[in-house]
Parts: sequence; structure tokens; C-alpha cells
Amino acid sequence: PSSFLHSDFFILNFFTLYGHLTEDSLINLSVGKKFKKGEQIAKMGNYPINGNWPPHLHLQIITDMLDFRGDFNGSCRSSQRDVWLSICPDANLIARIPMLHAPRSTLHEPSSVERGAMPSSMGESEILTKRHELIGPNLSISYRKKLHIVRGWKQWLFDVEGQRYLDAVNNVPHVGHSHPRVVKAGQAQMAVLNTNTRYLHEQLIRYAERLTHTLPEPLRVCYFVNSGSEANELALRLARAHTHQKDMLVVDVGYHGNTSSVVDISPYKFDHKGGMGAPDWVHKLDMPDVYRGAYPISDPQAGTKYAQSAQSAIALLHSLPPLYQPAQADVRYVAQRNLAGFISESVLSCGGQIVLPPGYLREVYRLVRGAGGVCIADEVQTGFGRVGSHFWAFQTQGADVIPDIVTMGKPAGNGHPLGVVVTTPESAASFNNGLEYFNTFGGNPVSCAIGLAVLDVIRDEGLQANALDVGNYLMDGLRGLMTHYPIIGDVRGLGLFSGFELVRDRHSRVPATAQASNIVNRMKDHGILLSTDGPYENVIKIKPPMVFERGNVDFMIATLDNVLREDGINE
Ligand code: PMP
Repeated sequence: PSSFLHSDFFILNFFTLYGHLTEDSLINLSVGKKFKKGEQIAKMGNYPINGNWPPHLHLQIITDMLDFRGDFNGSCRSSQRDVWLSICPDANLIARIPMLHAPRSTLHEPSSVERGAMPSSMGESEILTKRHELIGPNLSISYRKKLHIVRGWKQWLFDVEGQRYLDAVNNVPHVGHSHPRVVKAGQAQMAVLNTNTRYLHEQLIRYAERLTHTLPEPLRVCYFVNSGSEANELALRLARAHTHQKDMLVVDVGYHGNTSSVVDISPYKFDHKGGMGAPDWVHKLDMPDVYRGAYPISDPQAGTKYAQSAQSAIALLHSLPPLYQPAQADVRYVAQRNLAGFISESVLSCGGQIVLPPGYLREVYRLVRGAGGVCIADEVQTGFGRVGSHFWAFQTQGADVIPDIVTMGKPAGNGHPLGVVVTTPESAASFNNGLEYFNTFGGNPVSCAIGLAVLDVIRDEGLQANALDVGNYLMDGLRGLMTHYPIIGDVRGLGLFSGFELVRDRHSRVPATAQASNIVNRMKDHGILLSTDGPYENVIKIKPPMVFERGNVDFMIATLDNVLREDGINE
């Protein structure tokens, strides 16, 4: 037994349990023996003495021995975790191991008050079996060995066993999983009122005002929806209403959502297994990929050169027959075939974290507007300060590059379903053509309260600046690894939206697809969550919650270094 001074000035007696030691550690130990600070008290046991576990120390603080004598429980059922945690506080109170060196312990885990109860009464295999019965099957589950996540906190996710994972891939919990200010804002508003936008409510106005002030003029008119797909769906309608045209330009391997119309403008879906190919009103532009494409990063004109793909698509479009036979309902579309618009992610995410080269959007927007079309920036993944240097990723292309429509989703509500379309008064006026636009859930006071809290946290915690600092630090770390591991062919990104591309050989650039998957799975085994994407699934994506720290980067780079050195990982 030992004791320490509690912050409330009373002496707390406690016991410590040291497990997995060598047998001879016991020889010099006896009840009541005193030790000096820094004195060695035992040695860690090797494999055989240790039940064939790798050498490690089990250190546990116990505040109530529960009448056990000597043989105290060193592990427990996850369902009883809170009870045991209440008498066995964090062992790092005395071990003081820097978090960096103990990445998978429960250090700095939220207190049980913050966590509430552990919420799983079902085991993993039961959940999987029932999922197969009850949930549509064309939805893959991440990782070879599935994760059963029950809690999130800042940049951490916790599985049902209390195992902690560094979340380096989820950009929806933008300001951190379960951010207390966001949770509180939602709870407070939900306890008072949640209804639709046919009544007056200040929350809608306050949010629309705050959000539009993050955007350049004339992007000042908002429509509230519930997801990124819905936002892009509405953007398509706005483009068509404004231009009376249907044809769209899209960037190859782009993804804009899951509804019928947006699958039609998503090569990532329509060009893949089960997809129906591009509809006759959709025209693909080459990805402006300065690593694999025709124009390399060393070419200062690469952006404008890639943009010429829009010029050819428009020329082709003008040579095509009309989409519709003259019929009264469609008569507006028939006269002359021209563009409705162009949509692009502001950093190509599903395409493999591809940063648009300088000058690309300026030139494509010029060409699209010349053909009568409107320009849509899909900021569903990249918005809200993630790219660090700017609040919106399209702004990295120049202050004069201003889309007609911006679509937002994922991070807007930090996980709460909130999507927004912001457009110009001119385009909103065209859409106001007699057909009412009503959205049952869009813009409800709870969503707006949450959206406002997200904006407050980004501002108050300086998360955009953090994204720039930590994002650059991360890319420096990855470039450092690149000098040792030829499998890393390219490192790219903006702020905390980055990725690295794996190749079998830097010269041929043959994609190292299987290796990318192996690395992601091994990183998960080491407690770090990542994922792959790109047309060859060989790009490892990094887009963590914006509270990611330099220490998290150190842990990630060190772990990646170890994983890349593992036997067979590069084969
Ligand atoms: N646009 C982009 C760029 C996306 O990445 C996604 C989702 N991954 C969407 C739109 C669709 O958003 P949601 O899944 O919220 O409908």
C-alpha cells in the first residue's frame, strides 16, 4: 500500500499491482519494504515465465482491494469496465509515461463522466451476423479484422475492449469526435425546439450569416440540406434552372454522392463495377494529376494545359445532336446544346488526394462560363479550414477564382447530418421559377445550432492554423520516409488533407495496390486508422480530425517507419 496527497487535501491510500515480472524479482521483496525514488524493484519476465507473452509490465493502481489478498483482478469484462475503472485509476498517474511512448494505453482517455456507459450489449460476431441479415449487403466494412468502435474523443476512437486508435482518416468529426461544445449546442437546442424552416427562427439566420461570411462575394444565398449528396443534387438543379441546359463536365474519378443524379456525375461510381458508364449528358475531363498525368509538376503551365481537356469536351458537346426531341415539356433544352455546368472537388479525394495544379480552376471556369455553364465547387471533403492556408480549398486557386455554387457536407455538422448549398443571388433568382424548394429537415434549429458551434470551435481553437502547421509537419515527415522507402512514389496534399502514393517502382510507377492495403491493415494493428483510394487503390489517405497534433504525427511517422520495415510488407 502507498498513499498520496489528493488535490482536495486528504491522504488517499492505494495499492499497486506489478505483473509479468521475473520470478527472482520476488526474492528481495517483502511486505513493508521501503524504496528510494529511482531504485530498481524488479525485472520484466521473458517469454516462458510470462505465459509466452512478449516482455511487458502490467502496472495497475488499486484504491480498494475488495478484500482480495494478493491476487487482485488484472483484467475485466468490457461490460464491467466502468466499475473497475472507478477503483483502478489511470496507472500513468504514477508511471508518467509520455503519451507518445504509450500510444495504445488509455492515457488521457475521457473520464467516465465524459464517456458515459460503454454502449454495447452485442458481441462482434452477433453484430456481423445480424448486419448480414438486416442491412443492405453492398456496403463494405473497413479492415480485414473489423473494428467494433464504441466511442470517439477528439482524434481518438475506442473499440469495445477500450483499445485506442488514432483517427487519421475521418474528416467528418472535423473539430474532434464528441466535441463537448458541439454536443452541448445540439442537446440544448433539441431540448427546446426542433422544427422545419417554415417558421421564423433566428438560428437559421445566424448560421447562414456566419457561413456566408467565410465565402467571397457574391456567394451569399444558402439552401440547407442533410448530406453532401443532397447538396450536389440541388446544385445540379440550380445549374439546370439557371442555364436551361443539362450537359455537365466532370473530372475523371470524381465522386459527388449516392443519389441517382449524382451517381450520374460521379465517374468513381459509374465507371466501376455495377456502374452504367457515363450518361450521354456527362462529359469527363482528365484528372489534372501532376504525378501520373501528361503534364508533370515541374511544368509551370500544367494547370492550364490540363484545363484544355474542358475545351475539347465543349467542342465535342457542340457537335452532338440535341438531347431531346422537340416536345413541349423539354422545349427549353432543345434549341442549342450548351453547358449546364462543371463540378469538381477542390482537391480530388477519391481520385487519390490530387491537388489541383495552379491555374487549373481559373482556366476551366473561364472555358465553362464561355460555354454558358455554371461552376460548382464540391467542398464536401475539403472545406471549413481543412486545407490550412484558406477556409475553402477552391480559394487556393486564387482570389479571383470564385465558383457560382459551393456544396458542403461532412464536416459542417461534425457528424450531425448537415449539408449546405451556397450560391449567388442571380442563380437563386433563376431557381425561383415557381417550383417551391422545401426540405423537411434542412436548416432545422438543431442542425443550425450544431453548425454554429462547429464554426465557433474552428475559430476559438485556431483549427485552420493548426491544420496548416500540423499538415505541413506531417508532409515533411512523409517526405523524410520517402528518402528511405522507394515504395513511396509521391507525397501530396494541402493542410490536413494529404496522401502518399505507393508504387512498385518509381520509374514505371506501377501501382503498389496490395502493399497499400497491407500497410493500412498493419497500421491499424498498431493503433492508427488510415484508408486507401485513387483509381488504383494505391494512395493512402490522411484526413484526420483538425485537432490532430504534432505528437500524433510523430507517432504516426514512427509507426509507419516500423511497418514499412516489416518483412514482406513491400512484397
Ligand atoms: N462529395 C464528395 C467530394 C464526397 O466525398 C462525398 C462523400 N464521400 C459526397 C459528396 C457525398 O456526401 P454524403 O455521403 O454526405 O452524401
